[in-house]
Amino acid sequence: MFESLSQKLSGAFERLTRRGALSEGDVDEALREVRVALLEADVALPVVKDFIASVREAAIGEAVLKSITPGQMVVKIVHDHLVQALGGGAEGINLATTPPAVVLMVGLQGSGKTTSTAKIAMRLTRRERKRVLMASLDTRRPAAQQQLATLGQQAEVKTLNIIGGEPPLAIAKRALQTATLEAFDVLMLDSAGRLHIDDELMEEIAAIKTATKPIETLLVADAMTGQDAVNVAKTFQDRIGVTGIMLTRVDGDARGGAALSMRAVTGQPIKLLGVGEKLDALEDFHPDRIAGRILG
Ligand code: GDP
Repeated sequence: MFESLSQKLSGAFERLTRRGALSEGDVDEALREVRVALLEADVALPVVKDFIASVREAAIGEAVLKSITPGQMVVKIVHDHLVQALGGGAEGINLATTPPAVVLMVGLQGSGKTTSTAKIAMRLTRRERKRVLMASLDTRRPAAQQQLATLGQQAEVKTLNIIGGEPPLAIAKRALQTATLEAFDVLMLDSAGRLHIDDELMEEIAAIKTATKPIETLLVADAMTGQDAVNVAKTFQDRIGVTGIMLTRVDGDARGGAALSMRAVTGQPIKLLGVGEKLDALEDFHPDRIAGRILG
């Protein structure tokens, strides 16, 4: 993951390190290459501009004060800023409310939403000993509800029984009622996706949100789709409001751009990473680790 960006940045700082002195000109020269690397990694332009400006300010102010080489110092400053831009420390799923804590999963069709719902449910069940109920609100894709039920069996997590022809909002309300009556700790709602964002979908999700008051609205986004994922994130944030992001297909992603720009564009933390098709292919998002990988 993030290999190309990492390689670019190492290349950019190699020359600086060899030169052994850090001036305003050196910083600017290095940052020009950082800028290109970030753009090539699909980071959105305004995000790149802000990032470069803040690194420049810090880098020039701190020059020649440390015993490390100038190159190492710029690398460190870029690293620290990357960690900060990616969101500081790792944040888990927020369940701090009166049970059942509702977690609403949103995102485009094919982003990995249903799989991610089951992954999170399995982790909460096994690792945190939570009683989790899952419900699919996707009545458009015929097999979607059954898909979640099958994943539920694999994960040993209960799913709401399917009633044919029941509309999404009604399912959501019934799920909440069931979770409350049967004293579940967590209710995970897998909302319907579309291939593209449309008004009907946004209104449907907004109504579900109003009815179920989720403590977490997690946007599931495919890291492989780069700039598209960023646009999707912005629209969901503007129209629905999300509390966090789960980035999927990070196992196949060679670039870091999506993570950096989605965080910047939504202002919301990336909370989890999907790293494969299996239900245990779920990782916490550690900004420092990702920044380290970006820098190589
Ligand atoms: P949905 O339409 O958003 O609900 O997407 P699905 O959950 O059905 O996932 C679509 C496809 O992506 C399935 O084949 C999943 O196994 C696969 N998938 C989901 N998450 C990941 C991931 O993190 N890595 C990989 N490699 N595949 C994933």
